[in-house]
Amino acid sequence: MEPERIKHFRERLKELRLEIKEHLETSKDSSSAVKLDTSIGRLSRMDAMQDQQMALELRRRRENQLLRIQSAFERMSLGTYGICIACKEPIPEARLELSPDAATCVKCSGR
Ligand SMILES: [Zn+2]
Repeated sequence: MEPERIKHFRERLKELRLEIKEHLETSKDSSSAVKLDTSIGRLSRMDAMQDQQMALELRRRRENQLLRIQSAFERMSLGTYGICIACKEPIPEARLELSPDAATCVKCSGR
């Protein structure tokens, strides 16, 4: 991939990383708020627990994405960014525009 394109995707990844980190900061605040509030009733407490489960799930996904972004940066420094890690074919740039942290082409992502 051309250096100019790498630069473009590096910027995209940086923005994405910042966005996810901000989300992680806010979700940390909301989950601790649920634990502190013991005065709420049983049903709303169950709702709160469900919300907390969902928040945890979302948090786990975002943490996974952070790891994928990190490894995309590593592939950039190795010069293998934009190449599918499974079949070694170039990943179409349209896919990288949608998910700059993609490590595989569409064909291999299903495996
Ligand atoms: Zn592939």
